[in-house]
Amino acid sequence: MTYTDLLFQLVVHLGLLTKASGWKFAEHASKGGPLGELVQWSDILATLYILGHDVVVTSEVEQLASLINGLPTAFSSCQVRTSIPVDLMFTDIVGLIQFKRKVKNGYGKFSCLLRIIDSFGTEPAFNYMPYAKHHSKSQWGMHNLHPQQFFTMFPHSPDNSFMGFVVEQHLLQTKLASVQRKNQAVVYGKALYMWQGKDSYLNSFKDLLEVHGTVFVNKPSDNILPSFVHNHGILKGPELQQLLRESKVFVGLGFPYEGPGPLEAIAQGCVFINPRFSPPHSSQNVKFFKGKPTRRSLASQHPYAEDFIGMPHVYTINIDNATEVRIAVKKAIAAVDAHEVQPYMPYEFTEEGMLQRVNTYISHQDFCTQLKSPWVPHESVQFILSRAGQSCKSACMQKGRICEPSYFNELNNQAVLEKHIGKTCGSVKYTEDIFYPAYLATQNECLMQKQPMLFSCVGERPDVMRLCPCRDFIKGQMALCQRCL
Ligand code: UDP
Repeated sequence: MTYTDLLFQLVVHLGLLTKASGWKFAEHASKGGPLGELVQWSDILATLYILGHDVVVTSEVEQLASLINGLPTAFSSCQVRTSIPVDLMFTDIVGLIQFKRKVKNGYGKFSCLLRIIDSFGTEPAFNYMPYAKHHSKSQWGMHNLHPQQFFTMFPHSPDNSFMGFVVEQHLLQTKLASVQRKNQAVVYGKALYMWQGKDSYLNSFKDLLEVHGTVFVNKPSDNILPSFVHNHGILKGPELQQLLRESKVFVGLGFPYEGPGPLEAIAQGCVFINPRFSPPHSSQNVKFFKGKPTRRSLASQHPYAEDFIGMPHVYTINIDNATEVRIAVKKAIAAVDAHEVQPYMPYEFTEEGMLQRVNTYISHQDFCTQLKSPWVPHESVQFILSRAGQSCKSACMQKGRICEPSYFNELNNQAVLEKHIGKTCGSVKYTEDIFYPAYLATQNECLMQKQPMLFSCVGERPDVMRLCPCRDFIKGQMALCQRCL
């Protein structure tokens, strides 16, 4: 792998750790609180450091304020572009809000340097303020950044960039061979509330395997775990890896959504039982997603495991159907016993995959220079007309490609659209919404995008066929096109 010669001055502001956020992430880290975000931030910090950049970390608002406002000449290279003392700044949405409040002399000129870590993503409809105010208000949205400045935990929102994390593998290869697998399941759920209402699900397979948990229990009287569960409490990384390596099945309870846990278990050779959601979970029907700046819906607890890993590592099932659960668990045990399931890790979650991806972003993504042509080469991109009612995300996926929003500008052109519909537009309208450019066949009308901030991979309108930019990708490294390295 070749690394860039560009060495940057970076600020990483961990909004989630600030006292001002009130979230107490650090305090809850060993008590069953969310760890996925901390895993991701550790990996981001390690990656930026290993790539050779100078990294300054702040975890309190006051540190950030004095750094940004108090040291205008501390760093040099960035001053060519703006007066900000950094080349790039990585933060989360809480950190972004804090940053906006603390920067003297206006935040606008710095905004193109921001990289926002945003697990579930921010869709263009929620990002562009004038549109969001009328159509899609969200307490986390309306930041008016370029949508690719938001970096997600999994590659689920092509309007945003995919940051990801590294799946840990603590056990050394030499030690692996000596570990014996037992008839054992580990349940995925660090906090007691995740287990509530799940007794009959767990009961339906408890005779097939010994059931283990890693659950934080504050005091014995709080313990609602079924008596057959062997609870280890929250384990240290290497101990958890060892437990997974000795087990055959990793059991999802339906929450948390899209965490690192299932990938770690699959990397240790477990089969992941992934609860299917019917209807899918979204801001329409689940409190957790209310107010999040995305309309995405999840058809299972872990859509990445379902869609991009699948059998034999992942069984996505209805956990309310005891027969289906038993069949899946029996099949999983048999597959592990027959060595049909081997430890598996997608390249994009390896150390090398993360270094390659982040290095490519840092070298190529530029949201400061206007009117630049996209860095993704033309040869990797194809324009595709969707079916009526289909989003570009789905139209591209159907062709084994990924929606590439940086090419919307180029295809937002009457001649290009006419070429794809195979006729002359009867009429042409320039309009602002998340569905355009598109073709309305019933009226022979071509609808062009008037507001570039509203180009969207996920917008879908029942009656229009969208013109979509779709790119190829490296197998196992979806964020990057085949000619992007
Ligand atoms: N984890 C851990 N000890 C445990 C259980 C989990 O260190 O007993 C780690 C796990 O290895 C993973 C991280 O917690 O890297 C986040 O796990 P999860 O998938 O549960 O995501 P979260 O809901 O915390 O974001």
